Amino acid sequence: MITTDQQPVRVRFAPSPTGRLHIGGARTAIYNWAYARSCGGSFILRIEDTDPTRSTDENTQIILRALRWLGLDWDEGPEVGGAYGPYCQTERLDTYAEALEQLKAQGSVYPCFCTKEDLDKKRQDAEKSGKAYAGYDRTCRSIDPAEAQRRIDAGEPHVWRLRVPLDHKPIEFDDAVYGHMKFPIDVMDDMILVRSDGSPTYNFAVVCDDAHMKITDVIRGDDHLSNTPRQILIYEALGFPVPRFAHLSMILGPDGHKLSKRHGATSVEEYRDRGYLPDALVNFLALLGWSLDGETTLISREKLCSSFSVDRITKKDAVFDETKLEWMNGCYIREMGADAWLNVARPWIVAAGAQESAIDQNPDWFKRIYPLVAERLNRFDELPDKISYLFWGATTHLDEKSIRKVLKKDGARADEVLKETRAILADTSIPWQCDPLQSRVKELVDSMGLKAKFIFQPIRVAVCGNMVSPPLFESVELLPRKDVLARIDQTLAEVFDA
Ligand code: GLU
Repeated sequence: MITTDQQPVRVRFAPSPTGRLHIGGARTAIYNWAYARSCGGSFILRIEDTDPTRSTDENTQIILRALRWLGLDWDEGPEVGGAYGPYCQTERLDTYAEALEQLKAQGSVYPCFCTKEDLDKKRQDAEKSGKAYAGYDRTCRSIDPAEAQRRIDAGEPHVWRLRVPLDHKPIEFDDAVYGHMKFPIDVMDDMILVRSDGSPTYNFAVVCDDAHMKITDVIRGDDHLSNTPRQILIYEALGFPVPRFAHLSMILGPDGHKLSKRHGATSVEEYRDRGYLPDALVNFLALLGWSLDGETTLISREKLCSSFSVDRITKKDAVFDETKLEWMNGCYIREMGADAWLNVARPWIVAAGAQESAIDQNPDWFKRIYPLVAERLNRFDELPDKISYLFWGATTHLDEKSIRKVLKKDGARADEVLKETRAILADTSIPWQCDPLQSRVKELVDSMGLKAKFIFQPIRVAVCGNMVSPPLFESVELLPRKDVLARIDQTLAEVFDA
């Protein structure tokens, strides 16, 4: 077996565009990308679109967009080019045809004329006799070559199968995650390389591409582990060096079953739309099966790129814990600062009721929202509910529960509190700033003989609509005086007929 040991590292992410970019695929992409970055190698993106019934251009675009959003820049691939392109399998069909010709000339493949019905019957017969189906029984392997050629020339449909060397030693390789693997040759059936319509099978195309693209390390999901010995046989038949392999364990949902739609969102886009930051998602996914030192949880992109190593990937299945992701996202939000925050928050601020043009005209006002919400925000989609009161203008929208529990609470004297507060807030000699306003209102605690919460809660409800808004006087300061007074007036009229 020839290996790729001495060459500069070249890794690839090879999605099939049959759907959106799944969280598991994103993790595979991150590991390949981080590994390439950690050792000055190249990260290649290849679109495996040879299944015409399931692959679409739209999905390819969605995948590219998701990878770009995650910040996983590829050195070679679609939209970027490179010396080993094209990077879509449907544009590489001539290379598979050429490889097939080589295998034919060597006698390493043979045409198989068995029909689907023949194969189904063989499978059923095996099952009936209580034996597990051991794969294709090699009926066509012994057809005389001249006879086979005659049938091909007559237009009989056929596939091309690999003539597995029956005297081959067990197939062995050292997987970077699973360790030493050994597969006896007698479990390898003569797999199909080229279908009757001339299209290559996955195993054939992937080997041709990985070899032509000089891939040194194949890092992919462990659902491909059983394909690896088959692929090694194809590398050997073609005389190509065999890359190193690292197979990644599954990602499980919290119930211990493979992560799927049942558990909620599974595509990168869904996480983007729920207000996760790409930095947080990359950090979180990187830790699903890899660790820096077994302890550190917040790992920047730079650190990941400088420290990623294949030998710290674990074989244990990883559990996707969305609570941890939320927590992590919150940490990134608190770190990001107001400028970056406003860039990301923009659509959610608009959803809260702000005008796009207002953000363009006065971004600094909007940046002042950041310190009000950063402490309590874990996902951006929570933002509209939290800040819509900032865009109500002169109107308030009182929450029923808050009316009952705060404004109408027995003995709370909320109407008096609102009237006294209104007088303070109407006093133009007090600067319209959080601290002076707050300390004047606080004096009501003594003068009215009420606990602080009975002073502040009614004002909060009148101005922000409910009991759980961001800090009160910081919010008041952001709003125009006339709007705050109008909201208090409306509350007094609506709730107290005052
Ligand atoms: N196209 C394959 C998939 O999406 C990738 C296989 C590989 O990485 O070898 O599962």
